[in-house]
Amino acid sequence: MTDREVRSSRDASEVKRAWGGSGGLKPGKGTGRSPLGPDKTRVAEPSPWRQNKRWLGGLEFVSMEAVLVESASSSVGADVSRFEAEVHAETTRRPDFRIRFAVRSPVAAPAAAGDAWLAALLLPAMFAGEDLDVRLPVSARLTRTANEIQALMHSWYPDFLNRITVRTPRVLPRALPPQERGAVAVFFSGGVDSWYSLLRNREEVTHLLTVKGFDVPSADQELWPEIVRTHERIAVELGKTLVTIETDLRDHVDPSYGCFQKPFAADFWGKAMHGAGMAAVGLLLQHQFSRVIVPASWQYARLQPWGSHPVLDALWSNGQVEFWHDGAEASRLEKIRSLAGSQTALRHLRVCPSDRPGRYNCGVCEKCRRTMLTLRLFGVLDQARSFDQPLDFRAVELMPVARYLYPLYREILDEARARGEADVARLVRILIGDKFSARRRWHFCRQRAGALAGRAARKIGLPRWKRSLLKRLPARWRPASGKADGGG
Ligand SMILES: [Zn+2]
Repeated sequence: MTDREVRSSRDASEVKRAWGGSGGLKPGKGTGRSPLGPDKTRVAEPSPWRQNKRWLGGLEFVSMEAVLVESASSSVGADVSRFEAEVHAETTRRPDFRIRFAVRSPVAAPAAAGDAWLAALLLPAMFAGEDLDVRLPVSARLTRTANEIQALMHSWYPDFLNRITVRTPRVLPRALPPQERGAVAVFFSGGVDSWYSLLRNREEVTHLLTVKGFDVPSADQELWPEIVRTHERIAVELGKTLVTIETDLRDHVDPSYGCFQKPFAADFWGKAMHGAGMAAVGLLLQHQFSRVIVPASWQYARLQPWGSHPVLDALWSNGQVEFWHDGAEASRLEKIRSLAGSQTALRHLRVCPSDRPGRYNCGVCEKCRRTMLTLRLFGVLDQARSFDQPLDFRAVELMPVARYLYPLYREILDEARARGEADVARLVRILIGDKFSARRRWHFCRQRAGALAGRAARKIGLPRWKRSLLKRLPARWRPASGKADGGG
């Protein structure tokens, strides 16, 4: 047994211990223990790839700068199926790491075991500018379409996604047969897009897939149990099966999280990666589903480069499982109109991106309020019990709105005018700058003045007592960071 084999078997036993036992936490129990297990990533131990660089450099199939999926394992239990791969990448902050997926369902390990890891790591490797070696069986179709995906993503984002070489030494020789079981899954976060796709494909959909580690942080321990409980109720009411997946993929590969040595401030996950993340999950479950529905993020009329896109999502299909980008024909307003007819959807709708501990919908962020305004237009806000905050028009009037959201507000404005809802129309016109509001203008002037005063105080080094006086100003006058105190 070579040193590396010894290391692998030791890792395997470590992983077995970390992932084994009682099968992890039961959905909804909230024990706080993640089925992903403790992070066993070896940070201090020097990588054998580094130790043997010269030796490895002599081998034809090893690139010195490559994202390398070295090995993968899976274990299928009655409750939880676990998949993990060991990854080596030169330009990440931790050269060796393990990516893990825990699926709360007995799942047969896919024959094309490398497909999911190729989907998970193609975009990060393009960001790093490192070639990608996947030393696991990869389907012939995905091997081909990976080049298409690269061409598409590079054409969208030439500034930060590079063309790379993908090496898949173990390509499955035959085309994979289509899945015969006919099960159809939809990615389901509980938001407007998910509900629209679920309701319009209700007859066909058999499973709901909810992921922890994408929108909901992998470390979350308060919101996730509530989401699981709620989605279980939804699945029962609609006669579907819920499958939850927990993963630390995003923690390891999202450059916006500072995982790579080169800094990246933009929203990598949204712009480029979240569709690939969903594809990785779907490809892990390729023996379970013939089709996986990906709810559309954008309407056809407003399509733009994005991590999930009608052109992109279909390219992740490997012949056995097909990915369908669904719902791009409808605007957000039309989607909310359609779910307003479902009591189940109104009871459980979750749109809030703020992940405030214990708050299913915070009721005060821009997205919550925009959705509540639309629900009010359709006369169903009082039935949307997942929003437990009242819609306060005076507070909404002072809410900042990003310019790229104006088209969504214009849809609301048109609907409000058509329904004769003058107060909603007036409010929306103020929000998008069509109508002057002295109160709104004065609010932003005070905020700006407070921020400038705080910055100046820090710059000229005001004594602490003066800065603490500044801190006693009304909250809306103060700089948001609260750093006027000097931070000790
Ligand atoms: Zn919110």
